[in-house]
Amino acid sequence: MPAPVRITFLGGLGEIGRNCAAFELEDRLLLLDCGLMFPDLEMPGVDLVLPDFSWLIENALRLEGCILTHGHEDHAGGLSFLLRHLSFPIYGSRLSLGLARNRLEEAGVLGNTELIAVADGERRRIGPFDVEFIPVTHSVPHGFATAFHTPQGVILHSGDFKLDLTPVDGRLTDLARIGSLATDPGIRLLLSDSTNAEEPGHTPSESSVGVVLRGLFERYPGKRIVVTCFASHLHRIQQVADAAVATGRIIATLGRSMATNVALARELGVLRIPDSSLIDIEQVGDVDRGRVCVISTGSQGEPMSALALMAAGENKWLKIGPDDVVILSSHAIPGNEGAVAKVIDGLYRLGAEVIHSGLAEVHVSGHGMRGELQTMLAVARPQCFIPVHGEFRHLTHHARLAVGLGVPAANVLLCEDGDVVALSDEGLDFVAEVPAGYLYVDGIVGDVSHGVLRDRRALAEEGVIVVVVTVDSHSGEIITGPEIISRGWVHAPEAEELLEEAKAEVRASLEQAAAAGATDFETLKRRVRAALGPFVNSRTRRRPMIVPVVMEA
Ligand SMILES: [Zn+2]
Ligand SMILES: [Zn+2]
Repeated sequence: MPAPVRITFLGGLGEIGRNCAAFELEDRLLLLDCGLMFPDLEMPGVDLVLPDFSWLIENALRLEGCILTHGHEDHAGGLSFLLRHLSFPIYGSRLSLGLARNRLEEAGVLGNTELIAVADGERRRIGPFDVEFIPVTHSVPHGFATAFHTPQGVILHSGDFKLDLTPVDGRLTDLARIGSLATDPGIRLLLSDSTNAEEPGHTPSESSVGVVLRGLFERYPGKRIVVTCFASHLHRIQQVADAAVATGRIIATLGRSMATNVALARELGVLRIPDSSLIDIEQVGDVDRGRVCVISTGSQGEPMSALALMAAGENKWLKIGPDDVVILSSHAIPGNEGAVAKVIDGLYRLGAEVIHSGLAEVHVSGHGMRGELQTMLAVARPQCFIPVHGEFRHLTHHARLAVGLGVPAANVLLCEDGDVVALSDEGLDFVAEVPAGYLYVDGIVGDVSHGVLRDRRALAEEGVIVVVVTVDSHSGEIITGPEIISRGWVHAPEAEELLEEAKAEVRASLEQAAAAGATDFETLKRRVRAALGPFVNSRTRRRPMIVPVVMEA
């Protein structure tokens, strides 16, 4: 009986971000992506969110390596953290590895890995795994779908993809290869990108953005043009550069990641911009406005980014004014809409013209919509199906599409983070669960617990009251205090009376406790909280965090 293949989902199923799955064959593990997720408003102070790595760390000796499907942070951003604990090789396209390399170097973990470049269509063995890398189109170039040739048949993972028939670099999704695998030997299991499973139709080609950009460049001949997009969106950067060169403009990049990525992509031949069309951002002031195009980071309105500083009139190199046109060639990621709106307002206030995706077709998605997901299913004709890369609603809609295209409902599994499935002679089924909660990172350490986040939310929403009191350790009588310090509850000078009443409330409860013979700190602290909580609530209808500090003398 051929060995079963297990897949452990560590992230990306139930959220957009922190994509990570472990494929398991003959007791060996091969990771597919290791990404991060950006925090939402419910996670104050959190910089980023990672998969829970505890299961991987426990199984470190079984790990053969990690496949990187493409260079996006939601697929590669967790590697610099995981490589602090483990060491393993990473397989990916030269561009994906190049983009990841900078992050790994910065984190000082480059020594714990070997970066192994694979080519389009290449098939290679990694431990017991026989893996084939199939080109797909996406918003970062040189992405892969991954076909695992296993004793249980072919397992195809789509990676992030769209079916762009006129990609900027001419590199098409290799549907022909997927079709030929479907015919011989057949595709046993398909795992496919669900991001746009709720959107009808097809995602427009990336090339369509180029046409719109060119039109805008022609519409504003005398003005300086600033375009912002993701620094990894090299197809977009290529089209901005093409429009600039075609309309006689010289290009400067702004923002560190934009400069690094453009340099890397030019070196790899992924991006074609002639030397003569590039200048340093420091020289932009010397060039006539109508001859300049700046390509900048900050399309998500990130507070310290080049664009946010521009909008606040604080950018060192660019002073935005009525002679500028700013094009936001992007879509705000959910959670960033407010920040982006603020940046747009700031730019208008400075007198600039602003073009965003709500006004012109200056952005298209990198993920296929329903029509493309159906095409993928129809070409791959899988026996079993698992939707991946999406919130639960996206996964649900994608599962329905699969059933609609003839995959038996019993062979479609809706999995979530932490689920372990096995593909065996009997079919596809759930077999176990592993820990897969959020690992919150603030600064450089990943030890922000749910308790810490709960405290931060309480502090942010209701403020804090600290009560300091010194008591005699034998009698429990108050020696000094209580002193009350508050932040975010009431403004002290105007609430003098309220604070005095609160103190009296605390004093009374401690005296009562002392009379009853209670002298231990825990009891006294509890008494302070029990007295102050209801008082604060009844007088102000607020629930600040109450921190009693009881000292002994
Ligand atoms: Zn992606
Ligand atoms: Zn992704």
